[in-house]
Amino acid sequence: MPAGGRRLDGQGAIALPGLVDAHAHLDALPGAQGGPAVPRDDVVAAAGRQTLASGVTLVRAHLSGLTDGPPLAAASADPCTPLPRVVLGGPGLTGGAPDLNARLMRGIRNAADASAKVAEVAASGATWIAVHRLDAMSAEERRAIAGEARRRGLRVMASGDDLAELRAALALGVDTIEYLNRTDLPAYPDDVLAALRAVSRPLTVVAPIGYYTQYHAYRARPAEVRRPDLTLFYPPAAIAPVVDALEQQLRTAAPSPIDVSFPTLAAKFRQLRATGVAMALGSDSGSTAQFHIDAIWQEMRTWRELGVPADDVVRAGSIIAARAIGDPSRGRLDAGGPADLVLYRGDLTKTPFDRRHVHTVIKGGVVFVRDGTWVGP
Ligand SMILES: [Zn+2]
Repeated sequence: MPAGGRRLDGQGAIALPGLVDAHAHLDALPGAQGGPAVPRDDVVAAAGRQTLASGVTLVRAHLSGLTDGPPLAAASADPCTPLPRVVLGGPGLTGGAPDLNARLMRGIRNAADASAKVAEVAASGATWIAVHRLDAMSAEERRAIAGEARRRGLRVMASGDDLAELRAALALGVDTIEYLNRTDLPAYPDDVLAALRAVSRPLTVVAPIGYYTQYHAYRARPAEVRRPDLTLFYPPAAIAPVVDALEQQLRTAAPSPIDVSFPTLAAKFRQLRATGVAMALGSDSGSTAQFHIDAIWQEMRTWRELGVPADDVVRAGSIIAARAIGDPSRGRLDAGGPADLVLYRGDLTKTPFDRRHVHTVIKGGVVFVRDGTWVGP
């Protein structure tokens, strides 16, 4: 053993690279829209610990604030901090809402305004910018975003929630496309599939079908959000208000885009896989009813149920996701490489992926889960 090394008993376990979630929200709890306010520090403390405890050691934060995102990313780089490493997206830009000026999503007034906002996100230290409703922007505005992002070394992730957005994203040449088509469209049309097959530059699709599947299950059985393991690390006083509001929303809300699209999503996922485009695991953790603790495992289970071989699922949640989000040294198990890893006590190919089989989680050589128990701060 090398000097200063440490020996871990991995007998009977499978060593996996630390898992990588290409689409996560660490400053949001999966409560109801407009649910109870929980102080942001408490939210990050709970979400970060849940994510790390699940075996995820690297995430791309879809959206974060200009002032609170950079300290989160900086803190996450310390191996001892109970957070996965964070690759930062800043506040997103959206078309169709020129006056919007929220912490996490801003509108644009014209091409110059779009360029200025991209530059601001890059200057904050983010390495990604999220764009929504590209189809509602002018061609000039879209070009301004892509051009300024390229000049500043910022990558672009675009929403593909509907067909017009997806077509605009493909035409612009973004780096990742988020979401499956969440409309009642029965299938992706041939021109979109042909465009995906013909993509020559690096493009990765992040389609959180595990989230949509879990959400659909909770809509049928809302009381399941009361399972105590889902609120591990939550401030005790926040648990009942968060869960009550969420259960109520799941019982009573009008059909959401996930509800409307759900019967079509498996077919759409398979269509995307069949094009050969790179696909990474992304959980949209922190979105309504997507608890961080099980988010990546829900993705992995759903991919398996849709026929993706176990090896390919693990690759999508490690090496492919790490490469897609711009940190290709991670998501791998190489001698001398970063010591981010998970020991899993179970059979990955014969039984469903199950977080309860996570035996050990190590980030940067620091052990956070041992014998299935959180031992971090
Ligand atoms: Zn998101």
